[in-house]
Amino acid sequence: MSIKIQEVSKTFGRFQAIKPLDLTIHEGEMVGLLGPSGSGKTTLLRILAGLEQADSGRIFFSNKEVTQLHVRDRRVGFVFQNYALFRHMTVADNIAFGLEVLPKSQRPSKAEIKSRVAELLDKIELGHLGDRYPAQLSGGQKQRVALARALAMQPRVLLLDEPFGALDARVRKELRRWLRDLHDELGFTSVFVTHDQEEALEVSDRVVVMSQGQIEQQATPEDLYHQPANRFVYDFLGQVNVFQGEVQGQRLQQNQAWVAFPHGSQVTPGQLYLRSHEITLAREPDARAHLPLTIKAVNLIGAEVRLELEPQGWEADDLWEAAISHAEYNAWQPQRGETCYALPMNGQLFVEQQEQPQRLNWSFQEKTPGLALA
Ligand code: ADP
Ligand code: MG
Repeated sequence: MSIKIQEVSKTFGRFQAIKPLDLTIHEGEMVGLLGPSGSGKTTLLRILAGLEQADSGRIFFSNKEVTQLHVRDRRVGFVFQNYALFRHMTVADNIAFGLEVLPKSQRPSKAEIKSRVAELLDKIELGHLGDRYPAQLSGGQKQRVALARALAMQPRVLLLDEPFGALDARVRKELRRWLRDLHDELGFTSVFVTHDQEEALEVSDRVVVMSQGQIEQQATPEDLYHQPANRFVYDFLGQVNVFQGEVQGQRLQQNQAWVAFPHGSQVTPGQLYLRSHEITLAREPDARAHLPLTIKAVNLIGAEVRLELEPQGWEADDLWEAAISHAEYNAWQPQRGETCYALPMNGQLFVEQQEQPQRLNWSFQEKTPGLALA
């Protein structure tokens, strides 16, 4: 079922939690609502569910207006961060609960409820635990039961508010893959709230980035990562190295450090944003840049080696970070305390008063192709 949100806004007292916004969610899509705490994600989800009334705007489910429709008539399923299972009921009874309390005219037969619960227990891979009580389950298992309980009602839309927020990293990862598989198998439409960018990028067909009650960008995970619409999105999507300087000739310069504008690019003062994989490290600077850095930490765990770097004789708000391959690491053996130089390959220049960044590309033909370190 598709969802259309038109000009929906919400204030609490004098505080505007949601500024008038539009959003369309397609049938069968899994949309991630991503944003920092307080950006209005839960409020928007509650408005969709009918748990909260919007001040203005309209909501459509499959082109039918539901703005005034009561929560129980919207056929939405919810899963929240804190499992909220009934402690005195078994897992099977928890899953059956919503069906058992339906008015008689809508309630499935006892046998039908039983078989639906058995099927769901199977789906959440807890077929053998139907007789347990919530206290006897792990956090991840409880959250799967919460999901089964929501699905028992055969909702048209599933709303998930930080469903895995309270779980440890490994279980979180496992559960979000499992949820994605289930979504694809059952074909429901879901809205998934998270403040974790990795989680949003991994599970969503489309990610909607929110801040301060408005939508900053909506895009596929790939587009979001490679073409962030503005500085907020760029910052929010992960660690980034920032170089701030004044224009001097063809360079962006700060004290003795500089980055040369690539040939053919527009020379403007701004802040240069470089992700850790958009720079390479070298023992010497070259025609692209003079960015001396002291190696503060070397992290060998993972598919690549990550280095934390401190600017030498120039300033940045945070340490810089670079990722190099294990092969490069082995050839170079960088040690803590040593000096190296960052060389940009790609980057984005954010110009004052201008939302859209300018993309910069440094040609490799000029010098030092490939591995600069070995
Ligand atoms: P998020 O889920 O993105 O963390 P919320 O939607 O919960 O954000 O909240 C957005 C803003 O609205 C926050 O500043 C929050 O304090 C405020 N807010 C949310 N619900 C209420 C409420 N019932 N009364 C007053 N303020 C609220
Ligand atoms: Mg929230």
